[in-house]
Amino acid sequence: MNQSTPPINVEAETIGHFIDGQVITENGPTQPVYNPATGKVIRRVELGGRATVEKAIAAAQAAYPAWRETPPVKRARIMFRFKELLEAHADEICKLMTEEHGKVLADSLGELQRAIENVEFACSAPQLLKGEHSRNVGPAIDSWSEFQPLGVVAGITPFNFPVMVPIWMFPAAIVFGNTFILKPSEKDPSSTLFVARLLKEAGLPNGVLNIVNGGKEAVDTLLTNPQIQAVSFVGSTPVAEYVYTTGTAHGKRVQALGGAKNHAIVMPDADVDNAVNALMGAAYGSCGERCMAIPVVVAVGEEIGDKVVEKLTGALANMKVGNGLEEGCDMGPLVTRDHYEKVRGYVDIGIEEGADLVVDGRDIEVENHPDGFFLGGCLFDNVKPGMKIYQDEIFGPVLSVVRTNSLEQAMDLIDNHEYGNGSCIFTRDGEAARYFTNHVHVGMVGVNVPLPVPVAYHSFGGWKRSLFGDLSIYGPDSMRFYTRRKTITQRWPSTGIREGTNFSFPSNS
Ligand code: NAD
Repeated sequence: MNQSTPPINVEAETIGHFIDGQVITENGPTQPVYNPATGKVIRRVELGGRATVEKAIAAAQAAYPAWRETPPVKRARIMFRFKELLEAHADEICKLMTEEHGKVLADSLGELQRAIENVEFACSAPQLLKGEHSRNVGPAIDSWSEFQPLGVVAGITPFNFPVMVPIWMFPAAIVFGNTFILKPSEKDPSSTLFVARLLKEAGLPNGVLNIVNGGKEAVDTLLTNPQIQAVSFVGSTPVAEYVYTTGTAHGKRVQALGGAKNHAIVMPDADVDNAVNALMGAAYGSCGERCMAIPVVVAVGEEIGDKVVEKLTGALANMKVGNGLEEGCDMGPLVTRDHYEKVRGYVDIGIEEGADLVVDGRDIEVENHPDGFFLGGCLFDNVKPGMKIYQDEIFGPVLSVVRTNSLEQAMDLIDNHEYGNGSCIFTRDGEAARYFTNHVHVGMVGVNVPLPVPVAYHSFGGWKRSLFGDLSIYGPDSMRFYTRRKTITQRWPSTGIREGTNFSFPSNS
């Protein structure tokens, strides 16, 4: 308690690992970490291999017995302090996020706030762990179910929410009594390491949370090591499927959240101005690098389609693209040059496929940032379901408008798509909205809400190829995922009572 943790040395050349309460580097291979707004390498991150992961597993195993026996209320108190430290260090955390990811500062702050709400949820562990109790299930027999931790569990996270997605996982896993190993994204690792060290400052014993930076070798070690009891994964669908099949084949409980292609339906009666404002943020916020972004608008009827395209075009002309650390920017750069090339390539593909590129952001220039990974907002009209730009997750500032004639046609598009993360409808018609929420085949649904990301005390998860596994992430499902049920039946007969042998199945008949 009250151990003072010096702030992470962001001037350090190499970002290392956090194992057994210490930041370490092991002279392993490294890869560059960029500031995507300038295109410059600002740090390097060490890629931990099998030996580093095994060191983290050993630390987590050693910490587990004492942590498992720590009263939940004491575990929760550490989370209360962690929340306060996240708030106190908000500026530094957001600056690190923006510097390595590129999202604008206000967006980083939104991410941090959502992360803090997950920590608040974790503070309710004593309440959540109360279990279930039944008295007198038989003569002098009481029965109860309790929820015990699993042991050492792991999390593997993507680049696009370097603070929030790790915090979807480790506060809940830890507060329920597990010890944790996190393998964050190697593209923007600094803010993740920073918050882990705040948890130590909040009083977390060494070894309860460990971070190993790295790539596939680190992930494979976590997926195959018999000491790891469960794995939470968030990232792209091909990797999610690989993590799920490999982890379950090695006997682990796995939840693997994958990619998305979220559709927004705009009905003929929608408030177009509100819908377009909402769509701008949902499509281009964070440069489209959100799993709950809206990359597809389905306009029901030609008239509303024309209006939406016209107003989006006008709004895009006013959208300010620039360095997310500077005041007044709406959208920053893409995360890496490779990703920039990939997203830009999709715009070329869309033109070849015959979609109408109404707004072309490919040649944007941002003053004083000639080498940044900037792509301006792009808007395609008359996109057809067979096109690659419709089918694939692009994960960039590229919005496609598809035209349909009815709500049913619009919903068929969503239901037939490979992904089923989120979707939303803009309408004033309660009957249409009710039909949509009841029948659409996705996990998270909005009505006049473009990004229906569940709050921390619900759970987050898609359908179809957006989620492999049975439980969603954070909120109530996190208790189920990070614990296992044990049911105890106990009898204390009165002294002196003797009963004969009974060979029938025990019952109350
Ligand atoms: P990614 O799949 O490339 O990487 C995710 C994690 O997996 C990283 O830690 C990475 O190091 C690791 N990884 C990458 N390739 C691997 C491999 N071949 N074997 C083992 N591990 C590997 O994803 P990303 O580019 O970092 O993030 C963007 C993706 O994440 C998008 O598809 C987005 O939709 C998805 N995402 C989904 C959610 C959700 O809740 N469903 C949330 C955020 C992001």
